[in-house]
Amino acid sequence: MRTTTKRQVKKEIQNKLKRCNFCSEIVLAEAKKCKHCGEFLDPKLRTSPLPEQKWNPVTVALFSLLVPGGGHIYRGKPVKGFLWLIFVAVGYRFYLFPGIFLHLISIIFALIGNQTKE
Ligand SMILES: [Zn+2]
Repeated sequence: MRTTTKRQVKKEIQNKLKRCNFCSEIVLAEAKKCKHCGEFLDPKLRTSPLPEQKWNPVTVALFSLLVPGGGHIYRGKPVKGFLWLIFVAVGYRFYLFPGIFLHLISIIFALIGNQTKE
């Protein structure tokens, strides 16, 4: 009668576990949040999702590349973008190296800066 016991245990385990809808990893059936991908499994808890990423990183990088601070302006931060524009322009005005360096920094900042909320 060992097989029956084994099956019962297996069934019991299956009842306690389920697959995450988002990453397909096995999580506890009563889990409200997936420990693997961090998604909320309980729909009630998903009422306040993170703000959608409205901007495209490639577009931000391109804008920043063409116009220093352009990425910031594109992401709805004209003041920051304008400051970066001046900053990079001053860098270019005096020496080429700091200009390129600041330009690259501005692109990186445009991409990583305040991703969650402004
Ligand atoms: Zn998951």
